[in-house]
Amino acid sequence: MRFIFSKKCLEYGSPEHPESPERVNLIFKFLKSRGIEFEKPPICEEKDILKVHTKGLLESVKNEDFFDPDTPTLSGIYEYARRAAGGAILAAEISLAEDTGFSIMRPPGHHATKGSLGGFCYFNNMAIAAKKFNKKTAVLDIDCHHGNGSENIFQGDEKVLYVSLHRYGFFYPGSGGESNGNIRNYPLSFGIGENEYIETLKQALKEIDNFAPELIGISVGFDTYKLDPVGGLGLEITSYKKIGELIRELNRPIFYLLEGGYSSDISKCMEQFIGNG
Ligand SMILES: [Zn+2]
Repeated sequence: MRFIFSKKCLEYGSPEHPESPERVNLIFKFLKSRGIEFEKPPICEEKDILKVHTKGLLESVKNEDFFDPDTPTLSGIYEYARRAAGGAILAAEISLAEDTGFSIMRPPGHHATKGSLGGFCYFNNMAIAAKKFNKKTAVLDIDCHHGNGSENIFQGDEKVLYVSLHRYGFFYPGSGGESNGNIRNYPLSFGIGENEYIETLKQALKEIDNFAPELIGISVGFDTYKLDPVGGLGLEITSYKKIGELIRELNRPIFYLLEGGYSSDISKCMEQFIGNG
């Protein structure tokens, strides 16, 4: 497994915001302690962003001319967002070249729709990577929140199957209650716990296997952890070991992108998830 990271993604944001630099720094420090060397993400080109997003969204991020209560207008955010998108592209490229790429860059991406940012996300990193290579792609989103942005972008795209397991019911962003065409949603109740989660994941993985994708992108969120201050689906730290193993059993080119996860145990969840990777 090859990891993509640049310390530049820790330069922005506040420790008070749930999507703080420290959450990614914890993962970085853990991987570094294992002796892992990181690959630097390239800056995503505008043309690759425009395959997914409207010119209006690109310009508003570039000009820092937007307002969203969760997704702050920060100095230089356009470059930070493009670096996270570039990390996603590199992760997919690595996986298509018969290794496995995992980008731990921030900001995350799965709440960014074609034309709007939100939920700490500016550009949809997963969608940008998927559209770049134009392969038959399955996206599995295991963040606690529904990837409303990814659904919006992938809806009706015959080359993509989007599958999401997420907390549903009085929970952000409120979408993902039903499946529709190439969008397969598994809405789950708060605190369901490992057994039910794993059973649902097995069904989701079967659907992905039946789709026979050439490439699989995983939107990885650790906010399903039982002590996560934002999410919570009752998962234990050790649940991520089982989740990681089941995903690897797909035995196809898989790349991974970090989405959410806000507890101080995030690096322990990561350690379980990647196994010996
Ligand atoms: Zn989340």
